[in-house]
Amino acid sequence: MARDTSPQCKQCRREGGKLFLKGERCHTDKCAVDRRAYPPGEHGRGRRRKSSEYLLQLREKQKTRRYYGLLEKQFRNYYHTAHRQPGITGENLLRLLELRLDNVVYRLGFGASRRQARQLILHGHFLVDGRRVNIPSYRVQPDQIISAVATKEGLKAVIEEATDLTAAVPAWLQADHDNLTGKVLRLPERADIDAPVQEQLIIELYSK
Ligand code: SF4
Repeated sequence: MARDTSPQCKQCRREGGKLFLKGERCHTDKCAVDRRAYPPGEHGRGRRRKSSEYLLQLREKQKTRRYYGLLEKQFRNYYHTAHRQPGITGENLLRLLELRLDNVVYRLGFGASRRQARQLILHGHFLVDGRRVNIPSYRVQPDQIISAVATKEGLKAVIEEATDLTAAVPAWLQADHDNLTGKVLRLPERADIDAPVQEQLIIELYSK
């Protein structure tokens, strides 16, 4: 399975803000965005950045793609699906991204980052409605129950550490951290999604 292996902190610095890709480290003063608030690379500090409409749109798309940990092709496929759905394409796009199982596991507080959530899913540690699902892109539906299979103490500790980092579970999800289960209450509305994204810029980029 293809995946993005580029350094995560560099991705945040490139996009000029915290994307919370590394779990615990993102909440400490070791965060690279806090320590070096300029783009990576030899000329990152000194170069004056050009600005254009296209550049703004491109950076917004890259930021969102990296935030959810997707490759370009996967991200574009989500755009095409969102475009075919009724309603506002930008909101559809964000909803589709939020409904990915790796994002839901992260939002429920069972993974310290989306990348860790994906790893746990790939290793078969999560059930959806009682059936093992090891596909991070699996799209969850309202009323589905997600539960962690944490038979080993080590895994339980990993999930508990992630839970401690979780600020708040969004209103469209419900988490029971004691029993390591969660429920999808409804589809997320735009107001439920706190991703730092101006989705309209992404739509403008792909509509060209
Ligand atoms: Fe981004 Fe986290 Fe690295 Fe900070 S520590 S730069 S938020 S991945």
